Amino acid sequence: MNSASNPAQNEPVETPVIGHQVSPRFERSDEFEADLRRVVDGYFQEAGISTRDRLSMFLKTAVLLSLAGMAYSTLLFVALPFWAVVALVVFLAMVVAGIGFNVQHDGGHHAYSRHHWINRLAAASLDLIGASSYVWRWKHDVLHHMYVNIAGHDTDIDLGPFGRVSPDHPRRMLHRFQHLYIWPLYGILALKWQWFDDFRDVLVGRLGARRMPRPKGWDLALFLLGRLAFFGWTIGIPSLFHPLGSVIACYVLGSVVLGIVLSVVFQLAHAVGEAQFPTPDPVTGKLDAGWARHQVRTTVDFSRGNAFVTWCLGGLNYQIEHHLFPRISHVHYPALAPLVEAVCLRHGVAYHDHGGFWKGIASHYRWLRHMGSPAQAS
Ligand SMILES: [Zn+2]
Repeated sequence: MNSASNPAQNEPVETPVIGHQVSPRFERSDEFEADLRRVVDGYFQEAGISTRDRLSMFLKTAVLLSLAGMAYSTLLFVALPFWAVVALVVFLAMVVAGIGFNVQHDGGHHAYSRHHWINRLAAASLDLIGASSYVWRWKHDVLHHMYVNIAGHDTDIDLGPFGRVSPDHPRRMLHRFQHLYIWPLYGILALKWQWFDDFRDVLVGRLGARRMPRPKGWDLALFLLGRLAFFGWTIGIPSLFHPLGSVIACYVLGSVVLGIVLSVVFQLAHAVGEAQFPTPDPVTGKLDAGWARHQVRTTVDFSRGNAFVTWCLGGLNYQIEHHLFPRISHVHYPALAPLVEAVCLRHGVAYHDHGGFWKGIASHYRWLRHMGSPAQAS
């Protein structure tokens, strides 16, 4: 059986900081973290089940890949009315998001299987759906998970000039209206990744305030071939069967849906008023909490208990549990959540849950409005 308390899940993987910033430093791990590990290890020992290699995950992967294959081949080979094409493209984009949330995300965190090659294969599905699994590993697995909501180090909260979600990001005049205009902009996120962001990150070798080693050898080949394959199945192959204009329209529609779904799911967990945005000491880099407390302070759950949402989102509605135990398969999160919440209560650590999905959306809307208001200028 795999141990729940795999130390690699919160070991700092240092990448050099660029410029004068210092790397954030957590307080030493405390009794809270030890208690969490004890309780979660105890759960798996008592239940006698493995933290990874779950049959339900393999079945889910088969279902998602089959749905994607069916939707894609129907779009390619069946003459459909306009409305059916639109509906099927939207559906395919959601299934692709589901592959990202469930298969790629668990694989990227080594939470899918104890076998390295299965995790690598699952993680590489990201290259086939338009983003680099190499860049993701540094951006998400290393930086986002280590330095959640710390400006300059967690690039997931850096929305560029048009959005401000951290009090440590500069406020611009246009942010006053960000709670209104940001939603369609989320739609271009996936297109931006596919055509620009990954190439820039690989060329520049930098993510926010930190260096990212440039990919070499197999990593570079996977990045380039993956992107070629992605444009091949989204634009190249369909254009052999349909007019190029229609193919591009479908590709853009699918990418916009994908961008909105991915953005919204991630923003509800961190870019909300219930989450904190800790600022390290500018000289020492010290933070006033240990790693585990930091994860809980900066993260919020939603739609707990909704099995359909949990299935579709790969447990990303249980982000607190995910951030504390990223190497445990997401299928366990619903069982772990009450245990984690009880430990938080025992140690006086606030545990936040939006409740339903729409309450989370409302909270993100309020936070955007708050961060954009003139009174919040930094
Ligand atoms: Zn993650």
